[in-house]
Amino acid sequence: MKLLWAILALPFLLTLNSQAQLDTPLQDNPETPVKKEVVPTIPETIRILKRDIRNAALGNASSFEVGIAPPPPDVSNLGTNINYHDGAVMESTHNVYIIWYGNWNGQPATTILPQFIRDISGSTYQDINNTYFDNSRHITGNLTMSTQIFDSYSQGTSLSDAAVTNVVSRALNNGLLPTDANGIYYVLTSADVNETSGFCTIYCGFHTRATLRSTDIKYSFVGNLDRCGSGCEWQQISPNGNVAADSMANVMSHELSETLTDPDVGSGWYRTDLSHETGDLCNFNFGTTYTAPNGSKANLALNGRNYLTQQLYIDSGTGGCVMSYVPITGLCYNAYVSNIGFLGFVCDGDVGGTVHQSRSMEGIEITAPSGYSVCYQVYASGIGWMSTVCNGGFAGTQHQSRQIEAMKVWFTAGSGHVEYFSELSNLFWTGPSRDGQQTGTTGQSRAMEAVVIRAFH
Ligand SMILES: [Zn+2]
Repeated sequence: MKLLWAILALPFLLTLNSQAQLDTPLQDNPETPVKKEVVPTIPETIRILKRDIRNAALGNASSFEVGIAPPPPDVSNLGTNINYHDGAVMESTHNVYIIWYGNWNGQPATTILPQFIRDISGSTYQDINNTYFDNSRHITGNLTMSTQIFDSYSQGTSLSDAAVTNVVSRALNNGLLPTDANGIYYVLTSADVNETSGFCTIYCGFHTRATLRSTDIKYSFVGNLDRCGSGCEWQQISPNGNVAADSMANVMSHELSETLTDPDVGSGWYRTDLSHETGDLCNFNFGTTYTAPNGSKANLALNGRNYLTQQLYIDSGTGGCVMSYVPITGLCYNAYVSNIGFLGFVCDGDVGGTVHQSRSMEGIEITAPSGYSVCYQVYASGIGWMSTVCNGGFAGTQHQSRQIEAMKVWFTAGSGHVEYFSELSNLFWTGPSRDGQQTGTTGQSRAMEAVVIRAFH
């Protein structure tokens, strides 16, 4: 069980930045686990419970499931080379809280880093995280730079992992910061503070979670990277004129993406075979850079400021490290499922249908973003491919107990792509498919239970 993820701080890796590195994970080994909890988290417990319930249900498999060996139920490979493990992601707009630990008096970081959070909120960079979803909704790239506080060495200058947790819990217990299950907390330590579990030697930062004040609190540690020199700092002239802050922005972005996609560490999204989360897969991989006015390298311009921040792994196409994702909003769909009927419209990457309820989708309506026209076709059991319908028409059947087993969706007007994933009985989430490709199966009597559909440029 991984409790901490580290950004590897080995200088030799700093030679690896190139666009050709898309599929080469820049090694980011998990730090030696510090087992803060030996009891599984609530989400982990629920995940195990769900798996057991599902396995029990498979023992009573209905006819269409006979002969299909259930794969490991908690791992889904979407064809994007990153796996979903059935737990929650962080879905809505999040408050970001910063605890400036130690002495940050007069440090430009206190200006640059909150501005970085504000600048990336809602950006096409942050929207890369929008491509991740759980069994109900998707992540949004929106953040609110909320409260910042200062902690003047309440735990001294040499912090263990437990002391970092104490920094957060102290802030919550004293009411200095709200206890926010939906929040993202950063503990940023000044250059005279060490973190003894491997800061600078093994990692530049980490994210984890702890139950504090009965709440699942997600927090990250990022130290002043001047302490680590070339171990964590890419260049010695940086876009905002402060190497420590610019380097910390990069690490904060890495941890932010991972906190959103794997908030409870080990139950959300990570590549199973490598045990790499989203940030790890593109660690210190900056893609195409340009030269900022002061001569430094940058790869992201937001609101007139330049940053050098790592690419993020995208859950689209075949995956990879990218700097932007441009969603098209307003694509909505209404799943019709067995024994319930219409579930109501959801949009833009949220989940239509049900997961882990053994309910088949029997039909669907899809409406296009304004300026677009969308058509779709479903494969229904006992019928096969049904005729194409468009723009809100109903595809499938009602009251015939016919499951949808496959689907195709495409735009007939408007520029951009439509991409879709399906959750299939005994296969969990698969995909993605796009622009008229088939999702789901034919000839396997496998029900489609849920879909995620979204559009992008
Ligand atoms: Zn990481």
